[in-house]
Amino acid sequence: MALNAASHSVISNKAAPINPATPPVDSDTNSVLASINADPTGQNAPGRDGGGKGIDRKVKTEKELEKERKKAEKDAKFKTKKAAQAVASGDKGGEKKGKKKVDEEQLGEYVEETKKGGKKILKPLDSSPFTKAYVPKVVESAWNDWWDKEGFYRPEYNVEHRSELAKKKGNFTIPIPPPNVTGKLHCGHALATALQDVLIRWHRMQGYQTLYLPGCDHAGISTQSVVEKMLWRRQKKTRYDLGRPKFLETVMEWKNDHHDWIVSVLKRMGGSFDWTREAFTMDENLSTAVIETFVWLHEEGLIYRSNRLVNWCTQLNTALSNLEVDNKEISGRTLLDVPGYERKVEFGVLTSFKYPIDGKKGEYITVATTRPETMLGDTAIAVHPNDDRYKHLIKTGAKAKHPFLDRLLPIIADNYVDSAFGTGAVKITPAHDPNDFAIGKRHNLEFINILTDDGCLNHNGGPFKGQKRFDARSSVVDKLMELGLFVKKEDNAMKIPLCNKCGDIIEPLQKPQWWMKMKELSKPAIQVVKDGEIKIRPETSERAYYQWMGNINDWCLSRQLWWGHQIPAYFVRIQGRDDDSSDNELWVTGRTLEEATKKAEDKFQGEKFTLERDEDVLDTWFSSGLWPFSTLGWPKETNNLEEFFPTSVLETGWDILPFWVARMIFLSLKLTGKIPFKEVYCHSLIRDSEGRKMSKSLGNVVDPIDIMTGISLQELKDKLRIGNLDPKELKTAEKYQNTAFPQGIPQCGADALRMALCAYTTGGGDISFDISVIHGYRKFCNKIYQATKYVLGRLGEFTPSNTVQKTGKESLSERWILHKLATASKETNEHLTVRDFSLATQVGYKYFLNNLCDVFIENSKAILEHGSAEQKESAKQTLYTALEGGLLLLHPFMPFLTEELFQRIPRRQDDRTPSITVANFPEFATLKVFHNPWAEKEYDLLVDVSKGLRSLTAEYAIKDSAQTFVHPLDDTTHSILQAPTSRSSILSLSGKAISSLTLLAPSDPSPTGSAVYTVGTSATVYLDIKGRIDIDKEIVKAKDRLKKANETVERQRKIMDESWKAKVSEAVKETERERLRVAELESGNFGKSITQFENLKIA
Ligand SMILES: [Zn+2]
Repeated sequence: MALNAASHSVISNKAAPINPATPPVDSDTNSVLASINADPTGQNAPGRDGGGKGIDRKVKTEKELEKERKKAEKDAKFKTKKAAQAVASGDKGGEKKGKKKVDEEQLGEYVEETKKGGKKILKPLDSSPFTKAYVPKVVESAWNDWWDKEGFYRPEYNVEHRSELAKKKGNFTIPIPPPNVTGKLHCGHALATALQDVLIRWHRMQGYQTLYLPGCDHAGISTQSVVEKMLWRRQKKTRYDLGRPKFLETVMEWKNDHHDWIVSVLKRMGGSFDWTREAFTMDENLSTAVIETFVWLHEEGLIYRSNRLVNWCTQLNTALSNLEVDNKEISGRTLLDVPGYERKVEFGVLTSFKYPIDGKKGEYITVATTRPETMLGDTAIAVHPNDDRYKHLIKTGAKAKHPFLDRLLPIIADNYVDSAFGTGAVKITPAHDPNDFAIGKRHNLEFINILTDDGCLNHNGGPFKGQKRFDARSSVVDKLMELGLFVKKEDNAMKIPLCNKCGDIIEPLQKPQWWMKMKELSKPAIQVVKDGEIKIRPETSERAYYQWMGNINDWCLSRQLWWGHQIPAYFVRIQGRDDDSSDNELWVTGRTLEEATKKAEDKFQGEKFTLERDEDVLDTWFSSGLWPFSTLGWPKETNNLEEFFPTSVLETGWDILPFWVARMIFLSLKLTGKIPFKEVYCHSLIRDSEGRKMSKSLGNVVDPIDIMTGISLQELKDKLRIGNLDPKELKTAEKYQNTAFPQGIPQCGADALRMALCAYTTGGGDISFDISVIHGYRKFCNKIYQATKYVLGRLGEFTPSNTVQKTGKESLSERWILHKLATASKETNEHLTVRDFSLATQVGYKYFLNNLCDVFIENSKAILEHGSAEQKESAKQTLYTALEGGLLLLHPFMPFLTEELFQRIPRRQDDRTPSITVANFPEFATLKVFHNPWAEKEYDLLVDVSKGLRSLTAEYAIKDSAQTFVHPLDDTTHSILQAPTSRSSILSLSGKAISSLTLLAPSDPSPTGSAVYTVGTSATVYLDIKGRIDIDKEIVKAKDRLKKANETVERQRKIMDESWKAKVSEAVKETERERLRVAELESGNFGKSITQFENLKIA
């Protein structure tokens, strides 16, 4: 089964690609510790971006935002330029990359000392270069084996060790969408794993009995074609040379190698699977489930045999379901590459030619076709019964004479014919066209198949026998010209059916196959979604589900392959009769040969017969349609089935909703009488940084392993060369790599990858995947690492209180951070409940980085240095609680880093939690004691004032002896600012440039000769700039910025129109609205600044 594999879209999803809010990639990435050491007051160097570090991002000033935007623009330009340079001189890029790599390589090879499965040996933080700073491969080593070995991932763990909690909460199960066992995991799989594992870990921490069930799909067509190609390349042998048993053995070996690699990638991603329950669609029990289902539904008449047109791939030599066929739309004459043809083949042309009327010299009837070669299979010409042009032909029973074959074509009347189209006469090829097939049945016409299974003309092709079908296309036309029967060629818009596995042009061929009746099965499957028993998110996917289920056709089940589940159906060959194997009545099914024999004996009493088992296998989706219950033991009545079925969530790409999700729903309802899952969450498709779909030939398919471990550009190119790309594709692919990864891919680690993928998931449009965004999260990881390291250093000998509780001695900043923690836990839980992954990551990110690192840790330094013993103790308890809470909140997203740090911080006295994976997730209910909106408001004010002061000193590049004023606008604000601790808080957060801070009374006049900064509606801060700046220059600067701000306002207003509102998610809307608000404020403030400067000039 291919996750995200569709290079096509069965559901139209026109939503524009959306980039969710992501952390500023190039923001100041110095660790807290480093910046503290270098710059004890936390002030950034003047003239540098003041936005990276410091105050709450939400109240970021307009100036900083503008700066950030400019910086981002500059960086983007720089990146593009670099990329262009790298393309221009490949070697130069190589050098750069080489140099860059040295930093990581200087560390040398990391050797994990922990024994596999043992608890990780944690080296002291300052003992080795591997622990001094955050290195993903070091932090992410050893944990997974230990988690697995300790059984934390098994649902039984919660019952055994956290039983009260688990009983209360119930079960939570996600079956993995099984990846193709011989495929490679790509970023689509990484996204799925990240989202599923976040839900699983979050539920596990909440106390649910949690099962994340792993497994693989045998992927019939994909696997067989890969192995056949490999056989041919290596041994010049076909599957027929090996024979069925030997060939299957070969596939099985191939499968085992690939399977191990897939498992290792899923583990590397941190997926918390219960590996003791791993499943494979061709396992014994899952195969039993397949046979049971087929026999059951055949007995009920829902599965039947019929000889009709199927979608035939001449390359793979098998029938395909409609879902495996892509329709390529062309607007007129188009030359396309077709597998097996050297030259391009012409499509989109309507060829008209004429058939002579038999026995009437000089009389012709003209027909038109987009597939001239099919005329070799024509067995009639149809006209509308009321068409006066042809009435005489109908009346006289005239026939047309085939020019190349000894065949007369009856001219028939049928209402289906549109007399207004073309000549009003239609050639009829019943064996090669779905519409003609129906007419053929109605008029009892001859069905003449002209093609072999591999797409050549067969013995019915007359003089064209043996030619390939598209060679015959042109030679038929040449011959028609020769005979003077050719009339004209015209452009013709049309759809070309393509095999979505190999790109071959699908040929409608008549084949006896097994089919499943869908109408009856689809009705209850629609109903359970309508009734809300199954919730499908997002809504676009629910709509697509109804659309697909409402227009469902019977499902062609047979595949002419060897790899898969051989169909348990037997043709009853009755002695002395020459029966047609397409006759449904002559087939029996059985769970065993004995059962089938018994059925045949009952049905054909007294006849002598032999049973011949159908050679074909079932469509792969037949077995994956049983996945949620066959993996739990169905058709046996097992404890697993009893306990974990129906499952909780099915998370997958929306592109396989009809292939897979729909089939699981109707099969589950039919076979188990239950829904298979309560919820379906469909994630977006991942596109490359240029918004294009990921495809091998574009070179934009990124291996998640490369993101986690890092890879050089050269290695990326080497990997590309191993793939089977043709030289043209290779060139395109290399070009993309040069542009997107001029310096290769830096080591990002699993945690950053997971966090980035979740942050991308807004439930809206597709994801435009950018490696620099992921790397931005690695920097976030480093922040967390350094902040924890700093806190551990500050705590010293310290015992955290037994439970999470108030000390009663909290300073304002402590009350503030504890309130932020309570709020963050509330919001994270709320967002995850409605599957808003992006917002959930934003909450954790903001809490840890903006609240904890940038503000609280900064502010606590003063208390820890100068406070009383009591104050110090309280600050330490708060630091601990805030840090512990932050790690717990982030664990579902970043399992490795949070475990590594959780294991390093001291444990509360009675806390025996062995691992963060089974620690309790922060709940608002337990943190409610910290809820304190008043403290939040109060301290936010101090933070905002500091922000204003920093912003002003940075803006005017004032490094020291800055004279500043705070002007509260009301009495409440004034009394907050007057509190003795407020002043020190402001100073500790405002930077060392400030030498004097004057608190004005609300009634005081504004100071003159000062630059102004508005702190919301409650205060204004001022920086005295008299004699310190060149006013004229400042006016020019401010005017320039005013203009830019106004342009932004205009642009924002323009994009936020009605159609935009309908298209984007609420989260994106809010981001854009915020951008507009900020730009408007910016505009107002620059206006004010200009007036200020003008006044200064006069003064
Ligand atoms: Zn194909």
